[in-house]
Amino acid sequence: MTIFSHPDFDNHEGIYAFCDDKTGLKAIIAVHNTNRGPACGGTRFWQYDSDAEALTDALRLSKGMSYKNAMAGLSLGGGKAVIMKPRGDFDRKTLFESYGRAVEKAAGQYITAEDVGVSPADMAVIKTQTDYVAGLDEGASASGDPSPVTAEGVFRGINVAVKHKFGEKDVKGMRVAVQGLGHVGYGLCRYLSGAGAKLYVADINADVLKRAEAELGASIVSTDDIHQQDVDIYAPCALGGAINARSLPQIKAKIIGGAANNQLATADMGQALCERGMLYCPDYVINGGGIINVASEVSGKYDRAWVGRKLDELEDTLAEIFRRAELSHRATSEVADEMARERLSV
Ligand code: NAD
Repeated sequence: MTIFSHPDFDNHEGIYAFCDDKTGLKAIIAVHNTNRGPACGGTRFWQYDSDAEALTDALRLSKGMSYKNAMAGLSLGGGKAVIMKPRGDFDRKTLFESYGRAVEKAAGQYITAEDVGVSPADMAVIKTQTDYVAGLDEGASASGDPSPVTAEGVFRGINVAVKHKFGEKDVKGMRVAVQGLGHVGYGLCRYLSGAGAKLYVADINADVLKRAEAELGASIVSTDDIHQQDVDIYAPCALGGAINARSLPQIKAKIIGGAANNQLATADMGQALCERGMLYCPDYVINGGGIINVASEVSGKYDRAWVGRKLDELEDTLAEIFRRAELSHRATSEVADEMARERLSV
C-alpha cells in the first residue's frame, strides 16, 4: 500500500492509523489541510474489503471536507476518519470508546462528527473519551441533526440558481424532480412546495412517497426515470453518481441542485453539463448547511442566528461561482474547485 504516490494523496498534512487489539479497532484519521483551522469532518463506519480501500476513502473524503468547509466560509480545515467495521462479533460500545481515545490522541488537529454508519448513540460514546467531537444531540452546545439546515441551504441555493438561469425571483410554478426523500430530501420538498413548486419525487421507500403525495401533492415517479423528467430543476438527494455518462443525455432540467455528495460520477461530467447549457450547483457548496450547523457547535456555543448568516454567505458564494463560470465559459464544478483552492491557501 502506498501513501505519497497514492492517486488520492493530495499533500495531506497527516494520516494517522489506530489499532486496538482488545476492542478490534482499526481506524484511519486523515487530516488534509488545516490552514483555515482544525480539521473537521465525519467518521465513517464501514465494512471495507481492505486497508487500501479504507485509506482511499479517508484520503478522498478528507480532501472533500477541506473544499466544503472552505466554501462554507468556516474557520475549519478538512479531515475525515474511517473505522473498518470488524467482521464477526464485536462490542460496539468498547469499539467506539477506543475510537474516542484515538480522536483524543490526534490532540485537536481533528474534530469528528457523524457520517455513514455512525449513530447519535455512537457519538455520545465517543464524547465520553474526547471533547474533539461535534454534531451531538445533547449537551450545552449541541447542534443536533444537521439535515434541516442542509435542506434550507439547498433550497436557498436552488433559488440563487433560478435567479441566475431563468431571471426569476423564486421557484413558484416551476417543476422540480427530487430524487430521494430522506432527512434532507423531504425537508427540501417541504420548502419547494411551500414556495409554489410542482414536485416529482422518487424513492425506494414507498411510505415516504405516499406521504409526499398526500402532504405536498407530489407526483410519484419511478427511481429509474426521476432524472429524465421534463422539469426545470433536478435535485439529486439520494446517493452519489447521479450524473453519469448514461443519465446525462436523458436529463432535461436546466438546473441541477441537490443535497447528495459526489453527484458527478466523473469530473468530466461538470464540463459536459456546462456544454449542454445546464447550470450545475456544485454539491459540496450547495449542501454546506449541515457542516455550518456543526461548526456552530464547534465554536463552543450553538448560535442559530450565526448559522443563518453563514447560509446568506453560502448564497453569495454560489452566485459568485455562477458569475465566474459564465464569464470564463467554464464548468461551475471547475470554478468551485478553483475558489476552494484559493480559500485553502490563505
Ligand atoms: P437519508 O439516508 O436520510 O436519505 C436518502 C434517501 O434516498 C432515503 O429516503 C432512501 O430511501 C433514498 N434512496 C436510496 N436509494 C435511492 C434510489 N436509488 N433512488 C431514489 N431514492 C433512493 O440521507 P440524507 O441525510 O437525507 O442525505 C441525502 C444525501 O445528502 C446523501 O448523499 C448525503 O451524503 C448528503 N448530505 C446530507 C447531509 C445532511 O445534513 N444529512 C449534509 C450534506 C450532504
